[in-house]
Amino acid sequence: MAYQNRGGGFRPRGNFSRDRSQGGFGRDRPPRKMHKATCSECGEDCEVPFPPDPNRPVYCKDCWTARRGMDRDRKPRTTFDKKEDVKEVKDEVEELKEDVEEIKEEIEEIKEEVEEVKEEVKEDEVKEKAEKSDE
Ligand SMILES: [Zn+2]
Repeated sequence: MAYQNRGGGFRPRGNFSRDRSQGGFGRDRPPRKMHKATCSECGEDCEVPFPPDPNRPVYCKDCWTARRGMDRDRKPRTTFDKKEDVKEVKDEVEELKEDVEEIKEEIEEIKEEVEEVKEEVKEDEVKEKAEKSDE
């Protein structure tokens, strides 16, 4: 499974009561289209919610986690060579930039999800009103 695939994790809609009939206002969205991808690290098949960019590596959840761990687990600084330090800091900044890009993408996805949920709530409200006025 790809790390981007939030699967059942972030799906607040599951908490809403969805057992009401889908008649009339039922405008059910199809599930998010998942794209098959291959993990750049271990070659496992995984799925991502966006078309994989050939210029960017895709990682499955395991590799993603492992890589994160590695990043945080850098060798301790026993030397105080300024140049080395600067280089290392630069490298770290580059990596952080990449992280930020990933996080931005995730935020965009979450925004989308929030919009979807908002719309569903609106639909539910409309439905409720319609049901009340039916009686
Ligand atoms: Zn992998």
